[in-house]
Amino acid sequence: AASAVPVLQVEGLSKHFGGLKAVDEVSFTVARGGIHALIGPNGSGKTTTLNVLSGLYTPTGGRVRLDGQDITRFAPHRRAASGLGRTFQNIRLFRSMSALENVVIGAERPGNAIVAQDRASLEARARAALAFVGLEARADEPISSFSYGHQRLVEIARALAGNPVLLLLDEPAAGLNSTEKNALTVLLRRMAAKGLTILIIDHDMTLVSDVASHITVLNFGRRIADGVTATVLREPAVIEAYLGQ
Ligand code: ADP
Repeated sequence: AASAVPVLQVEGLSKHFGGLKAVDEVSFTVARGGIHALIGPNGSGKTTTLNVLSGLYTPTGGRVRLDGQDITRFAPHRRAASGLGRTFQNIRLFRSMSALENVVIGAERPGNAIVAQDRASLEARARAALAFVGLEARADEPISSFSYGHQRLVEIARALAGNPVLLLLDEPAAGLNSTEKNALTVLLRRMAAKGLTILIIDHDMTLVSDVASHITVLNFGRRIADGVTATVLREPAVIEAYLGQ
């Protein structure tokens, strides 16, 4: 797609559970390159939005475009094939497998024309992704021997190995100690500097304000603010929503 097209276009997205409007006509766009955060207090609709974006929920209304392509009705595997990468709030790695084997699974993304799919090049790609997150020396160790923080880095490496058009990070700082959070901040900045496009869903304001150039804020399922980070975080509606928790 032309580089002028935003990587992600969310248009009037709604998800209702019976009478509850968990997400209510939310629109925002994620520009190419850099980090965009979707934030909001507990119950504001972040997880529901993420589940709609990754295809786990069918929206009640609205549209999602990835790189200009309408993916609103795509199943999760088709979204992955179209270049939507993601990590999970609760880490999902194969514990008996090595870090490298886990990351190779990410490199095998179907439809990834850039990567030759033979075993040697998949492994080379996986090793490069592990090197990027600083864990190449432990590539052959089983995941069960990694700390929680390192498992999160392996999960990020797995998503990176698929060469995603957009990387969705679901609460990447959850469960990390302050040293690990600092390392994650540095890694996220390096990913942005590399030209990756990332959408972070989080309520950790420190992490978000340290790495995101743009923020969309939800409250009670509605968008209450959207724009450049420093400006958004000064808006009274945003301050009030967070103080009200
Ligand atoms: P957040 O991730 O911002 O904490 P959620 O998206 O989890 O918010 O929740 C938004 C609202 O939708 C909440 O009121 C929540 O109780 C409700 N909700 C979320 N998932 C479901 C579901 N599967 N069924 C019914 N209500 C839900």
